[in-house]
Amino acid sequence: TDAGVKRSRETWFGRIRQLLGSAELDDTVWDEIEEILISADVGVPTTMNVLDDLRSEVRSGRVVDGEGAYSRLRELLSAELTGAGNPDAWLDDDALTLPYVILVCGVNGVGKTTSIAKLAHHFTQAGKRVVLGAADTFRAAAEEQLEILGQRVGVDVISHQSGADPGAVAYDAWQAARARGADILIVDTAGRLHTRNNLMDELRKIRRVINRLDGAAPHQVLLTLDATTGHNGLTQAQAFTEAVGCTGIFLAKLDGTARGGIVLSIHRELGVPILFIGTGEGLDDLAPFDPVEFVDALLA
Ligand code: GDP
Repeated sequence: TDAGVKRSRETWFGRIRQLLGSAELDDTVWDEIEEILISADVGVPTTMNVLDDLRSEVRSGRVVDGEGAYSRLRELLSAELTGAGNPDAWLDDDALTLPYVILVCGVNGVGKTTSIAKLAHHFTQAGKRVVLGAADTFRAAAEEQLEILGQRVGVDVISHQSGADPGAVAYDAWQAARARGADILIVDTAGRLHTRNNLMDELRKIRRVINRLDGAAPHQVLLTLDATTGHNGLTQAQAFTEAVGCTGIFLAKLDGTARGGIVLSIHRELGVPILFIGTGEGLDDLAPFDPVEFVDALLA
């Protein structure tokens, strides 16, 4: 698994295994585990929930020792994260009208453009034909960056000149994707924060334009979040989820200093599953999110 998960594991979660391996299951142990989980960004509600369940299982005799508690903790934490479909099966539905549309939103700087390039690369590698739509027409640099990344990945990028109507770009991108027989259309959107209401209106409009072209689209609305901003990112994320109904999260920068526990807080606080994690700046630094694997790596 990736460096970020590994680091979290060494710094935070390894201690849980130690504690449960050596001590009695008394209040001191629960307090320490609680502290570890909260400082690892798991979040207070999730921590409380999981530990309440665990303690009651110990009281009822279902869990009798540290080893049992440890394996239940793993199960309880993974259960907190389930509910996401498998992205590699997204296109398996025969009733789909192609392109499968993925609308990507997020605040500037979180890693949105990079994540889009990674997604394009991921699906291209899986044999899918991908087209990108550059609907962040607010920043000229965003379109250029997407063009460059598109070239690197080897996919077409549909863009207008900067300042153009993002809805019109989305419309053209969908038509082009359809005409070119693309399997997947990934639409980049603006992430400026200083005019948030306009931004949310703009996103809703892009969504509407796409939905008029295909009543089932957008099939996914991915919110890109920066794992290193921790809880600060959550308030912003709430605004996006409310405006456009996000279906999943691309959690970028889950390498370096990020604490893996943030994944649990985000899932609980937004009620939106994490679908992908970004683990570096390269095109290959993407992993589809697997809750069980993730928690195993975290606690192993
Ligand atoms: P945008 O403004 O949201 O489109 O952000 P960019 O895609 O331009 O990314 C901002 C910075 O974050 C760039 O320096 C990227 O290389 C970097 N970045 C993006 N994703 C990751 C990631 O998963 N890990 C790391 N370490 N850096 C990332």
